[in-house]
Amino acid sequence: HDYTKDDIRNLIKSENVEFLRLTFTDMFGMIKNVEVPVSQLEKVLDNNMMFDGSSIDGFVRIEESDMYLYPDLSTFMIFPWATDSHGGKVARIIASVYTADRKPFMGDPRNVLIKNIENMKAQGFDAFNIGPEPEFFLFKLDADGKPTTQLNDTGSYFDLAPLDLGENVRREIVLTLEQMGFEVEAAHHEVAPGQHEVDFKYADALEAADNIQTFKLIVKTIARKNNLYATFLPKPVSGINGSGMHINMSLFADGKNQFFNETDDMQLSPIAYNFLGGVLKHAINFAAFTNPTVNSYKRLVPGYEAPVYVAWSGSNRSPMVRVPAARGQSTRLELRAVDPTANPYLALSAILASGLDGIVNHIEPMASVDRNIYLMDEAERQKAGIFDLPDTLLAAVANLEGDETVKDAIGKDLAQQFVDAKKIEYRAYRQEVSTWEIDNYLDIY
Ligand code: GLN
Ligand code: MG
Ligand code: MG
Ligand code: MG
Repeated sequence: HDYTKDDIRNLIKSENVEFLRLTFTDMFGMIKNVEVPVSQLEKVLDNNMMFDGSSIDGFVRIEESDMYLYPDLSTFMIFPWATDSHGGKVARIIASVYTADRKPFMGDPRNVLIKNIENMKAQGFDAFNIGPEPEFFLFKLDADGKPTTQLNDTGSYFDLAPLDLGENVRREIVLTLEQMGFEVEAAHHEVAPGQHEVDFKYADALEAADNIQTFKLIVKTIARKNNLYATFLPKPVSGINGSGMHINMSLFADGKNQFFNETDDMQLSPIAYNFLGGVLKHAINFAAFTNPTVNSYKRLVPGYEAPVYVAWSGSNRSPMVRVPAARGQSTRLELRAVDPTANPYLALSAILASGLDGIVNHIEPMASVDRNIYLMDEAERQKAGIFDLPDTLLAAVANLEGDETVKDAIGKDLAQQFVDAKKIEYRAYRQEVSTWEIDNYLDIY
C-alpha cells in the first residue's frame, strides 16, 4: 500500500488503534519491536523515534548506541485482534534503522536487502520477485504450556480431516493473514505428520521478506491461541521430513519476466541460465545464510525431499534448484535449499547478489540432471559436475568466509559479525553429548 501520513492518521482513528509497534529484524532473523501509544504517532511519522541499539544482536557498540527508527509507511498493518475489552487495536509499521547521524545503519538486515535491490536496479532490472513456501510443524503444549515435540496429527501430504487435525488452525491462520492483506495462494498439510505449508503470492524481495517475518509471527500467535506450538525449526523430529522454505524467484524488467524466452529448448533466457549459474556457484557459500542453524544441516540429508547436492533440473525434485513447469510471466527458479530459520533479508540479499554475479560474469550452469540424484553413486555425480552442499554449520561458515561476492552483498562488517556468532553457536553445540552417542556407544565401549 502507498500510504501517506494522513492515511495512517485516519486509519488509526477509524480503526481504534491504541498502540503502534515499530518492528525490525536482527542478524539472527528475530523480529524486535518498540511499542508506543498512538500519542507518539507524530514523532514516529517524523522519523524521530530513538532507541538504544547496543543490546541488539549484530548491532552497535555501547558508545554509539543511539539509533533512529524510520517507519516504512507502506508496511502499516493492523493486527486483527483487540488488545482490550473496549476494542483497542495494535498496528505495526516495519522500520529501517538509521544511525545517530541519520544514515541507513548497515547492521540492519533490511537496509542490506534495500542496498542489494538498488544494485539490481542499477543493472537494469525492476524487481526480484519472490514466492516463498514456508513449512512448519504444529506441536502439542505440555501441562505448563511449554512446547513439546509431540505431533498433533498423523496426516500426510494434502490429507483432509479427521487425519488433518491442524486443518482448523491452518484455516484460522489463512483467514488472519487475509484480514491483514496477504493473498494466500494455497495452504495444505505437508508430508510429515503435524506439518503444514502456506504459500502466499509472490512479491518484490523486500515486501516478500517483510511478509515472511509477519507470517511467522501470525502462525505462532494463532497456534498459541489454539493451544499448540508452531515451529519453523528445519528438523524438529528425526526420521521424518523437515521444514524447508522453498524460494521461487524471477527477475522482472519493464513489467516482463526476464527469465522467459520462447525460442529456447527449455524456454529459459540467457539471463535465467546465468542467474542460475551464479546461484549454483555460490550456493555452498551462502548456505550459512539460507541454512543458518546447527539444526538446518540435519534437514539436508538424503531421503526427505530436501536437497543434499548442488544441481538443477527441469523436471525432477531431488536437486537443489528446480524449474517449475509454468512459463511466460510465471517463469521461475525454485531454490529448495532454503529453510525457514533463514533471516529472509540476508538470505535474499545473498541469493540475489549471487544470481547477479552470474549475469555479470556470464556464469553457465552445469548440465541439468533429470534422474534421481540419490540413485547416482559418487563417481556418477562427479562426472555430472554435481557437488555436495555443506554438511554442518561449521563447514558452511568456512565456505562463507572464502566468498567475497556473498560477503560484499551482506557487507563486510555484518558478515564478520555473523561468522563470529555462528562459530560460537557451533562450538557450543559441539560440546554437548547427544542421545545418539549414548544409544550407540555406551553399550559397546
Ligand atoms: N519438506 C521438504 C523440505 O524439506 C519439502 C517437501 C515438499 O514441499 N514437497 O524441503
Ligand atoms: Mg509447496
Ligand atoms: Mg512443501
Ligand atoms: Mg516447492
